[in-house]
Amino acid sequence: LHIFFLQKKTNFMALSSSTLLLVKSHISLSSFSNPSLYFRRGETRLRVRPISLSIINARADERKEDIVIVGAGIAGLATAVSLQRLGIRTLVLEQGESLRTGGTSLTLFKNGWKALDAIGVGNDLRSQFLEIQGMAIKSEDGRELRSFRFKDEDESQEVRAVERRVLLETLASRLPPDAISFSSKLANIERSENGETLLKLEDGIRISAKILIACDGIRSPVAKLMGFPEPNYVGHCAFRGLAYFPEGQPFEPKVNYIYGKGVRAGYVPVSETKVYWFICYNSSSPGPKITDPSILRQQAEQLVKNWPTELINLINLTPDDTIIRTSLVDRWLWPSISPPASTGSIVLVGDAWHPMTPNLGQGACCALEDSIVLTKKLAEAIKSKRTSVEDAFKAYGSERWPRIFPLTVRAYLVGALLQWDNPVICAVRDNIVVPKLVRLGPVLEHTNFEFDPL
Ligand SMILES: Cc1cc2nc3c(=O)[nH]c(=O)nc-3n(C[C@H](O)[C@H](O)[C@H](O)COP(=O)(O)OP(=O)(O)OC[C@H]3O[C@@H](n4cnc5c(N)ncnc54)[C@H](O)[C@@H]3O)c2cc1C
Repeated sequence: LHIFFLQKKTNFMALSSSTLLLVKSHISLSSFSNPSLYFRRGETRLRVRPISLSIINARADERKEDIVIVGAGIAGLATAVSLQRLGIRTLVLEQGESLRTGGTSLTLFKNGWKALDAIGVGNDLRSQFLEIQGMAIKSEDGRELRSFRFKDEDESQEVRAVERRVLLETLASRLPPDAISFSSKLANIERSENGETLLKLEDGIRISAKILIACDGIRSPVAKLMGFPEPNYVGHCAFRGLAYFPEGQPFEPKVNYIYGKGVRAGYVPVSETKVYWFICYNSSSPGPKITDPSILRQQAEQLVKNWPTELINLINLTPDDTIIRTSLVDRWLWPSISPPASTGSIVLVGDAWHPMTPNLGQGACCALEDSIVLTKKLAEAIKSKRTSVEDAFKAYGSERWPRIFPLTVRAYLVGALLQWDNPVICAVRDNIVVPKLVRLGPVLEHTNFEFDPL
């Protein structure tokens, strides 16, 4: 553990210096952040403290909005629908021409389902996706090391893999037709003289917003402007795909993991005809962006060519538009070092605030949790006026941080353990740790999360 933390700390120091450059360049752009150096135990570190935006005068061609959400991903749409349920209208700006239609699936655990129920879309989605009963772990030679049934460990556990496209479409279907503005890429933000935030879109459109909720994902431009460093590459990449069986898929409803040396894979049935698979492998750098599906397919197959044949079969049955490769990143929200989740009436939600590796299947679940916690606090501030929006956002940040930071660290550590390539350590994992020591209950403890209905 100590080695992991040291490694992480080294990465952080490297990130800190790049943040300094980043922040310096922003000062000339928008005077958004105020970097300051401070000293701890003989080290020099950068502390980025968000301060006020530069003040600009209002112009006649600005569109006025009360609440703007940037990003029509899971966090953005869930927040828009949650606020809408409480009678609060928002405008969602999405850089894409449409909702993300490609992509694969996400495994959602019971905390994710509780959030979807609170938002009012849980049952619509349940009816389309299989409930996963358990999980099986195999070694690369196909030997089953261990299997679990989720309900044996926790009667209330609910696990389903959900197609991202369907999740997004279902959420969007709950919004009025004009709620999402597509092809609207945020380019910059500035503070207006009336205290509002001026959003400048890439196509020249200017929108003045009283409240800005940034759900703009892992490379969030708003988080950058608030002084957050770029997410940190963790040394692994993942191939993902959604295999299609027009005549019906043959698998039992369970998650199947296969552990190799520096490579691990998994697959899980999503519906009667679709099966999600992934292959995660070590790589010293994220490598060039590859979008050609035939190259992606070839590279994925190469990694598991001597593994149980069902993986190769799944790769072959994957349509071109659902095979992707992603480099895995995260960002640790160090206490008193990382900027807060909000500054004034601007707040970050989901991956924009806390990118985490997918090793616990919690990124989207936490984005959904965020959206509900934020909605409640914001609605209370707007309706009762007992607290300011600024304080509501601060309260959201303080409530969510103790949930998010440990999960981000845990996800990283789980990934690091599972990606070991040392043959001796892998043998200990396959013959002792997994068959005899692992217990599912503690492993899924983090899925216990309660919140009141909206
Ligand atoms: C390999 C992998 C597997 C995963 N598996 C799981 C899983 O099984 N379970 C789980 O819970 N999570 C999983 N996750 C995590 C999950 O995908 C994310 O946590 C989730 O997508 C976060 O949602 P978001 O809305 O915050 O960001 P996103 O889904 O990235 O949405 C951001 C949106 O903002 C838009 N945007 C960005 N910049 C701008 C701009 N300048 N202007 C306008 N719009 C903009 C984007 O186009 C996008 O639509 C996985 C992640 C990876 C990488």
